[in-house]
Amino acid sequence: MHARDLVSFKQRLQRRRLDLVRSRQAAERGVLEVREGRTDPEYEEGAQADHAEYLLNQLSDSQQKEIAQIDAALARMDARTYGICVECGGEIPPERLEALPYAMLDAECAGRLEEERVGVMRAPTL
Ligand SMILES: [Zn+2]
Repeated sequence: MHARDLVSFKQRLQRRRLDLVRSRQAAERGVLEVREGRTDPEYEEGAQADHAEYLLNQLSDSQQKEIAQIDAALARMDARTYGICVECGGEIPPERLEALPYAMLDAECAGRLEEERVGVMRAPTL
C-alpha cells in the first residue's frame, strides 16, 4: 500500500475514533440530565433513568467494539501489516478497505470464515 493511502486511512480511522468518543460523552451527558431530573413526561422518573442507562449500555457495547477494531487497525498500521489479510497473508483490496477501513480479512477469507461459522450453526440435514 502507498504511504499516501495509508496516511489517509489512518486519518479516517482517527477521525472516526474521535466521533465515537464524542458521541459516547454526549450520551453520558444525556444520562446525567435525566438523573438531575430533566425528565421526559412519557416515562416515570425511575423508568426514565433506567431507559437512559439501558440506551447508554447498548450504545457503549457497539461503540467499544468499534473503537477496539479501530485501535487494532491503527496498531497494524504501526506494525506495517495493515491491509494484509490475517488469514492468507494476501493484500486486502483498497475498495474493501475503503468500505471497511478496519477489515482484517480479504473478502474471500471473510466469506469462507462466515460460511464455516454458519455451517457449524446450521442443523445437520440427513
Ligand atoms: Zn485472505
